[in-house]
Amino acid sequence: MNNTTDYFNIDALLTPEHLLIRQSVRDFVDAEIKPVIDQCAHEHKDIPNLMQKLGAIGALGPYIPEEYGGAGLDQMAYGLIMQELERGDSAVRSAASVQSSLVMYPIYTYGSEEQKCKFLPSLASGSFVGSFGLTEPNHGSNPGGMETRLTKNGDHYHLNGAKMWITNSPICDLAVVWARDEEGKIRGVIVERGMAGFSTPETKNKWSLRASQTGELVFENVVIREENILPHVNSLRGPLSCLNSARYGISWGVIGAAIDCYETALTYALERTQFGKPIASFQLQQKKLAEFITEITKAQLLCWRLGTLKNEDKATPEQISMAKRNNVKMAIDIARESRQILGAMGIVGDYPMMRHAANLESVITYEGTHDVHLLITGADITGISAFV
Ligand SMILES: Cc1cc2nc3c(=O)[nH]c(=O)nc-3n(C[C@H](O)[C@H](O)[C@H](O)COP(=O)(O)OP(=O)(O)OC[C@H]3O[C@@H](n4cnc5c(N)ncnc54)[C@H](O)[C@@H]3O)c2cc1C
Repeated sequence: MNNTTDYFNIDALLTPEHLLIRQSVRDFVDAEIKPVIDQCAHEHKDIPNLMQKLGAIGALGPYIPEEYGGAGLDQMAYGLIMQELERGDSAVRSAASVQSSLVMYPIYTYGSEEQKCKFLPSLASGSFVGSFGLTEPNHGSNPGGMETRLTKNGDHYHLNGAKMWITNSPICDLAVVWARDEEGKIRGVIVERGMAGFSTPETKNKWSLRASQTGELVFENVVIREENILPHVNSLRGPLSCLNSARYGISWGVIGAAIDCYETALTYALERTQFGKPIASFQLQQKKLAEFITEITKAQLLCWRLGTLKNEDKATPEQISMAKRNNVKMAIDIARESRQILGAMGIVGDYPMMRHAANLESVITYEGTHDVHLLITGADITGISAFV
């Protein structure tokens, strides 16, 4: 019997350091996330001290250099960390993804030396929580239409507008916000908690990512000094490069959710008896399980290859789109189908499928929707954009 989730021995392609990192994050998730996640999701509550705990295991900014508080790891390690966190819950991976790829990455890539030294170490330790403001009420898939404005006013700027659907906005200490200036250029602004005119109302009543807070970022004449503007970016390339990094992490992360569902379903199918036999002995259930491990294996190979390209700085945005789209769909399909293997038991919180499936409804929408990623591939292979 081969019940491994490494069916093609991809571990042989990883280094001993990668395997050690993966195991330590897996142990963390088993000890700190799995015992509390069902209750947190039910009660729509944060996981206690999540950001500090993620900081302590090096999951915040894993690929940011150590001199700025990061772990200085490669992209394969980043992916493996995301995979293990999402085995626990997509809310945990989302927290780490946003902080690492959408907050630390732009400050590291486009920030001044002063900004890097001021913000990155606290973000890496989790003592500061960051959020990323791109989506607006009227501009989701089309961020280029953004209405948030940065206008010059003597020796400072005013920020006006609103961002919506922002992960961790209600608890953030700072937000990396994208706004259009008077020349029409897109600028990255670091907005800090406590600035007058800045508020972060929570979005209530979510049925997905319930262990993660989502909210708005509202700016009413917020005074911004030059020192809070990222100096090395002035176009949509800035936020899109952040999304590339985060989408790469999502491609890996959702494999973790799929593995959690697969392992749960396999164990259950071997133990549950109907008609005098384990349900795993019925062909229809075997078909489901065999397809799960096949799809997980294909997703793992896609990510491993993407990780090697990313390490060489050769992964294209289109390749990342394809991996995000394929792997999220793979995971949500496995979450839904694996729930059926558990029959009625699949609907209770003692098993993770309903929670993963509900979470993945957000993951298939955020960071570029399933449809838009398909159109990115379509544009790449035909040379004709069907969406702009
Ligand atoms: C839980 C959660 C957390 C999030 N966190 C963040 C965050 O931290 N920061 C942030 O900035 N944003 C965040 N988002 C926002 C997310 O990125 C957007 O929801 C996403 O980009 C889609 O935008 P929209 O919801 O406005 O949908 P829309 O853009 O209105 O799309 C609606 C539908 O129309 C389709 N569609 C749109 N344009 C086209 C087209 N040209 N051709 C064909 N179909 C099209 C889409 O595929 C989709 O099915 C988050 C969202 C969720 C749910």
